[in-house]
Amino acid sequence: MGRLFLIDLEGPVYSCKHCQTHFAVMNDLISKSFHCKHGRAYLFENVVNVTVGEKEQRVMMTGWHIVADIFCVGCGSLVGWKYEIAYEKSQKYKEGKFIIERFKVLGPDGGGYDMNHDEPMMESDEE
Ligand SMILES: [Zn+2]
Repeated sequence: MGRLFLIDLEGPVYSCKHCQTHFAVMNDLISKSFHCKHGRAYLFENVVNVTVGEKEQRVMMTGWHIVADIFCVGCGSLVGWKYEIAYEKSQKYKEGKFIIERFKVLGPDGGGYDMNHDEPMMESDEE
């Protein structure tokens, strides 16, 4: 395995729980109110240091989507998915955005479950 080229982010970052690879900055966080089969998930405008897997069609609570799993480039763990295409008009805003499962990342606050700052559950994307 060669040396990995990793992008270092500045400021408050979300990083891999296993290898501390940086994924996203707090400014790129769109929503904390997503839900996936393992619990809560975050929606990000942009994510770095991930590899995007095969595109596949999945039906979620909010309808049909084309999504691709995303993996940490540091340790290879599955951290979430990217929305490639959303069929429902109301879900189009998610195209090109990334979901990262909360228990896979360390947040700027150290990754603890800060229930006080959680937004109410607005949307569920349970498969
Ligand atoms: Zn990692």
